[in-house]
Amino acid sequence: MSDDRLISLTARRGERCPLCQKPSAERYRPFCSKRCAEIDLGRWLKGGYRIPTEETPAPGEQVETDAEETEGEMPR
Ligand SMILES: [Zn+2]
Repeated sequence: MSDDRLISLTARRGERCPLCQKPSAERYRPFCSKRCAEIDLGRWLKGGYRIPTEETPAPGEQVETDAEETEGEMPR
């Protein structure tokens, strides 16, 4: 039963660097080193991945501006 301890220690983190398959470092998870992390980051910046950050104006804001216009007491 003493083997259980050893296995849990090594298998606790089954993460490996997705780039070079080395065991990932805790600091640069899931990568093994800063270098691999930067390589992946470079892919990000080149547009390999897409981040959904399109800012769409909330429809509620337009209603607020409308209310402001009706407040003015300007006779036609
Ligand atoms: Zn790596």
